[in-house]
Amino acid sequence: MKTALVCGAGGFIGGHLVKKLKREGFWVRGVDLKLHEFAPTQADEFLRLDLREEGNCQAALALNGGTFDEVYQLAADMGGMGFIHSAECEIMHNSALINIHMTHNAAKMGVPRYFFSSSVCVYRDMQPGEPEMTEAEAIPAHPDNEYGWEKLYAERMAMAYERNQGMVVRIARFQNCYGPEGTWTGGREKAPAAMCRKIAEVEDGGTIEIWGDGSAIRSYTYVDDMVEGIYLLMHSDLKGAVNIGCPQYVSVNELVATVAEVAGKRVNVKHIEGPVGVHSRNFSNARIYSLGWQSRFDLKAGIERTYPWIEAQVKAAAGVK
Ligand code: NAD
Repeated sequence: MKTALVCGAGGFIGGHLVKKLKREGFWVRGVDLKLHEFAPTQADEFLRLDLREEGNCQAALALNGGTFDEVYQLAADMGGMGFIHSAECEIMHNSALINIHMTHNAAKMGVPRYFFSSSVCVYRDMQPGEPEMTEAEAIPAHPDNEYGWEKLYAERMAMAYERNQGMVVRIARFQNCYGPEGTWTGGREKAPAAMCRKIAEVEDGGTIEIWGDGSAIRSYTYVDDMVEGIYLLMHSDLKGAVNIGCPQYVSVNELVATVAEVAGKRVNVKHIEGPVGVHSRNFSNARIYSLGWQSRFDLKAGIERTYPWIEAQVKAAAGVK
């Protein structure tokens, strides 16, 4: 039986990835600072470890006197725009330590295949409609936040270990990802989850607050599509960074309208000051398409699968049956 280690298995994408690897027949160890908040883990073994500590990375990687066939590194100090713009030092310190120790020890312990979860936050601020950027065009680099800089450093570190120490490395740059069983409140939630929560909380005809004027353009990738992309990329020959994202670009205002439509509510929007991030990011999916990957869920289909889950969380938190 093939073995896989998933770092960040207590988190959103890591939790879904564990399920995918189990469906594919792997024996899976999950590692995280915390247990998954929303669903019991399907990992065969789950270790609570702080991966900023090198000894804990070695413990996570050790298996029966050897190590794993595949390691998926998704652990990161992570959140939406509000968190990314307020926790710059934590991101630069914590995520860099995790990646430094995980990459180094995975190579040292002989891991044959290593996956690193990067982000399209490595790209510079773009205007809507600018020609799509390829992965290589992220350099010369000018990410608009420290989260993107840390990801670039970790990508380069992983590629250095691939060149010099023979560990096969696969790197995905994820577009904004959303779906059930992800953070939906507390300050680390990302835009789709935040909009679902706000609209679940408001009465029909009520008003929600949105940071900025709502014109920022994003694409949002449903978590099942992301996990399929991760698995396909990991088992491919594609070296270097690979973008994974749904090709449907929408404004934040359109995101709100989609959630409101799915919720069946009329919603007024009050635009307030807040961190909005880049105007747009337009990037090419040609490399992941070359493996036969296509996103199966457009925004409406993904929100139809996400909103009911967040609405149920909101009702449960409010004590509504
Ligand atoms: P998440 O916050 O739900 O999961 C990350 C997990 O890492 C959390 O469970 C957290 O507890 C864990 N973690 C943090 N510090 C740790 C430590 N010191 N030791 C052990 N575990 C630790 O985030 P996610 O959305 O599932 O993201 C997974 C990965 O994908 C991250 O690397 C993130 O940067 C990347 N990514 C996510 C998105 C997105 O839209 N969700 C977009 C681009 C990139």
